[in-house]
Amino acid sequence: RAKERGKNNYQMFTPAMQAKTNLRMEMERALRQALERDEFVVHYQAKVETVSGRVVGMEALARWQSPGKGLVMPGQFIPVAEESGLITAIGKVILRQACRQASRWQTMTGRDLRLAVNVSAKQLYQPEFVETVETILRETGLAPGLLELEVTESVVMHQDTAANRTLLELAALGVSLAIDDFGTGYSSLYYLKHFPIDTLKIDRGFVRDIGRDANDAAIVGAIVSLGHSLGLSVVAEGVETAEQLAYLRALGCDLCQGYYFSEPAPAEQFAELLPWP
Ligand code: C2E
Ligand code: MG
Ligand code: MG
Ligand code: MG
Repeated sequence: RAKERGKNNYQMFTPAMQAKTNLRMEMERALRQALERDEFVVHYQAKVETVSGRVVGMEALARWQSPGKGLVMPGQFIPVAEESGLITAIGKVILRQACRQASRWQTMTGRDLRLAVNVSAKQLYQPEFVETVETILRETGLAPGLLELEVTESVVMHQDTAANRTLLELAALGVSLAIDDFGTGYSSLYYLKHFPIDTLKIDRGFVRDIGRDANDAAIVGAIVSLGHSLGLSVVAEGVETAEQLAYLRALGCDLCQGYYFSEPAPAEQFAELLPWP
C-alpha cells in the first residue's frame, strides 16, 4: 500500500510551482543587489515603561527601501533572506546601522536607551556571530549592556552545545537576550532554565483581546508572574489602545510596545520621542 501511495503521490512540477521558484530566485537576486546598493534601512519603535510612560528604549525593525518597489516590509523579504543565507549579511548591516544610531542617541540625550535588534537562527548560529557583535559594538561605541537581541523560541530550542556556547558568550559580553513572540512557539519552558535569558516579549496575539477575553488576561498574567519569578523583565507587544495598556499595567507588565505609543519610524522621526536634555 505504501508503494501504491508513493506511486500515486509523486509531485508534478507544475507551472505554478515553476512560477513560485522564479519569484523566489528573482527576490534573492534583488536582495543581493539591495545589499550592494546599501538599500536596507532601520525603523525604530519605542519601548515604554508601563508605569511611567517613559521611553526607555527602542526596537530596530528592518526595511528595504527599494527604488522600484518602495518601502518593502520584512515579512516580504526576511523569509527569502533566511532560506538563501543572505540574512547573515543583511542582519549585519541592520545591526551595525542600529548600534551606530543608538550610540549617537545615547551621546545626544545622555540617557541609557536600550536597543533591541531581531536576529534569526541562521545569524545567531554562524560561528563568527559573537565576534561580529563584538566588533560592531566596538566600532559604534555602544555599551554591550544597552544591546538586546530578540530571538524566537524556536531559536533557543537548538539544544546543541555550540548554540548554547554562543548564547553564553553573548551573555558574557554583557549583551541581553529576549524571547520574542513568547507563547506562540514550542511550549517547553526548558530553555528558560538553561539559557541566559533576560526578557520575555509577550506575543501580540495575547494582548489584542486582553480586555474582552478572560483567557488572554490569565495567560498574560501567568507570563508576567513566570517572568518575574525567574527575575526576567516582561514586555508586551502590539499595544494599540489605552484599555490594553490599563490591563497590562494592572497585570504588572514592565514595558509596552505598540501603535498606541508609536509606529515604527525612520531615525529622524523616532528621535522626536526621545527625552532630550
Ligand atoms: P517582531 O520582532 O515581533 O516585530 C513586531 C512587529 O509588529 C513589527 O512588524 C511591528 O511593526 C509590528 N507592530 C508593532 N506594534 C504593533 C501594533 O501595535 N499592532 C500591530 N498589529 N503590529 C505592531 P514588522 O516591522 O513588519 O516586522 C515583522 C517581523 O519581521 C518582526 O516581528 C521580526 O520577526 C522580523 N524582523 C524585522 N526586522 C528584522 C531584522 O532586522 N532581522 C530579522 N532577522 N528579523 C526581522
Ligand atoms: Mg522583535
Ligand atoms: Mg515580536
Ligand atoms: Mg511578532
